[in-house]
Amino acid sequence: MFSDAFVGLACTDCGATLAVEDADLETIAGAGPCPDCGAPRTPEYDLDAVDPDAVSAGLRAWDRDAVLPFDADAALSAAEGGTPSVDAPRVADELGLAGVAIKDEARNPTGSVLDRGLSAAVTAADAADADLVACASPGNAGQSMAAYTGQVDLRSYAFVPTRSPFSNKAMVNVHGGEMKVVPGRLGDAVDALAEQLQSDYVDLGAFATPFRHDGLKTVAYELLADRCWDVPDAVVVPAGTGELVVGVVDGLRECVELGLVDELPPVYAVQAEGCAPIAAAWQAGKTETEPWETPDTIVGELEVADPPGGAPALAAVAETGGEVLTVEDADALESAVAVASTETVEVGLAGGVAAAGLWALAEDGPLGAADEAVVVNTEAATKAPDVLRSHLMGQGV
Ligand SMILES: [Zn+2]
Repeated sequence: MFSDAFVGLACTDCGATLAVEDADLETIAGAGPCPDCGAPRTPEYDLDAVDPDAVSAGLRAWDRDAVLPFDADAALSAAEGGTPSVDAPRVADELGLAGVAIKDEARNPTGSVLDRGLSAAVTAADAADADLVACASPGNAGQSMAAYTGQVDLRSYAFVPTRSPFSNKAMVNVHGGEMKVVPGRLGDAVDALAEQLQSDYVDLGAFATPFRHDGLKTVAYELLADRCWDVPDAVVVPAGTGELVVGVVDGLRECVELGLVDELPPVYAVQAEGCAPIAAAWQAGKTETEPWETPDTIVGELEVADPPGGAPALAAVAETGGEVLTVEDADALESAVAVASTETVEVGLAGGVAAAGLWALAEDGPLGAADEAVVVNTEAATKAPDVLRSHLMGQGV
């Protein structure tokens, strides 16, 4: 079940470890946050046990199971990953950059980058013999969780806020998942899950399980492999929970440690201005986030007022020499429309936030004429095409 290199779990705060050799399968696979201090736990690997050649090639995410907790043949999978890095020469020309590629995570099974993490997290919960998994989610995670539990005898319960897109709500049920639509915003859904779900369940929220952010590492391997291991000058990702930032930097760091690349590229995390607790902490020089009091962005997937991965995301960005920035909703929509209308790629709202971040990095610095950037589009535009279309209304279209 476990890969050779997976040695156990470590607490991201107090450092307490749970070694594979000291615990049974159910204990490891069903693990949540640190029992000592409550902080998230993360998988640890002995990279000396990994042959770099075994992870330098590979199409799908689980082809790199040497650096994941579980063997590919034990994974609940639907061929996630293997998404293309689409060349965007017209965007590069407009911004005066040497190159831009869009890592298009919309082409995952449920149209979201989160499939990489939920594939691993649901695999773990099933291995732990769970009967029920649950999470509170802006939408995509609930949909992805329901999709993977459908492969096995495992119930899933998504708690989503009313503002969650119709496509997410519909597809949770289509995949056979149960769902509670909670009036209000994501924080209300988080509270409702904690208060209302009476059955025993494994929480598959971001950082509630050690396996979800870890599964996102494969984005980093792929975006470097897509460039034949040439390190880009910028990797731009949207940030909500912080899990993608952490997962991507974990993956990039492993690629350095395995000798696949020489250095980390700067990672730029972009938040929507109306809900930017990670950016606010960054700008204040803090290492922890504080809850955002009045979250208000049209990008619901990133409207995470109290990000569970705030502190590790801040540390991850700092490690790479990148930065955390914010963009206005209108610019996120404008950038998504600009990419779709010139480069064919259908960028979702959260991906539009990253794209708008690229615009800002190119127009205001630090990116310039010699720089090549990779932007991660985390979700399909078809999850909320009405919001993108509405942006055109203001222009009389
Ligand atoms: Zn701890």
